[in-house]
Amino acid sequence: MLTVKDLHVSYGHIQALEGVSLEVPEGKIISIIGSNGAGKTTLLNTISGIVKQKAGTIEFEGQTLTRAAHQVVKLGLVHVPEGRKIFSGLTVKENLYAGAFIAKDKAKVEENIEKMYKMYPILEKRQNQHAGTLSGGEQQMLAICRGLMSEPKMILLDEPSLGLAPIIVQGVFELIKQISAQGLTVMLVEQNAKKALALCDYAYVLENGKIVVQGLGKELLCDDRIKKAYLGER
Ligand code: ATP
Repeated sequence: MLTVKDLHVSYGHIQALEGVSLEVPEGKIISIIGSNGAGKTTLLNTISGIVKQKAGTIEFEGQTLTRAAHQVVKLGLVHVPEGRKIFSGLTVKENLYAGAFIAKDKAKVEENIEKMYKMYPILEKRQNQHAGTLSGGEQQMLAICRGLMSEPKMILLDEPSLGLAPIIVQGVFELIKQISAQGLTVMLVEQNAKKALALCDYAYVLENGKIVVQGLGKELLCDDRIKKAYLGER
């Protein structure tokens, strides 16, 4: 569904990505793990059109992406950024409406809001509250649900577990599993390597802007190099 070929991105003299190639098949969960500064956010920002590459190509459903970020959403690819970036001064419901900015059919938008409420009932309870008053976990769920409001085919999730308590992280991963089971293709960037590898079908390990290891999530969980470097095991 998504093919990235030989992607190079730099910020001035800093080379953030150096020849990254990867494949995200339809309906799968693909994870990108790696430490701070490895280039994970840059990779997602380049795919969604926020950052421009120096070289390399990105294809989504056979179409080369050369468009601005809002046009990428229209193709069915949505990015839920790191730090959630919800509109804290707007209500929960207004945030959901904002996610449906490309939609033309009002009835469908309402139907989708109901779907989100069903999937995560706290959002309904808090629909008229300012989103900034939600807990961190609720804000993350809202950010994902807002992304789903445009009815994407694929979702890019940047560090959805960042800063959340373990029990809440569990809920976020359950939600990802649920949306994947509904047929959505997922690209998940995570520092929580253990959870990401357990959840995903296939994973890429990014180090200093390069893919250094790749394989099935369950295989990488047992890989000695990964255990030492990313899972805190010996
Ligand atoms: P983190 O988990 O901390 O977000 P990351 O793996 O997502 O890390 P990136 O944020 O993509 O990594 O950063 C990759 C490299 O590019 C780092 O060296 C970072 O300092 C640098 N970088 C990222 N954004 C910018 C920017 N806007 N201007 C200059 N350098 C940047």
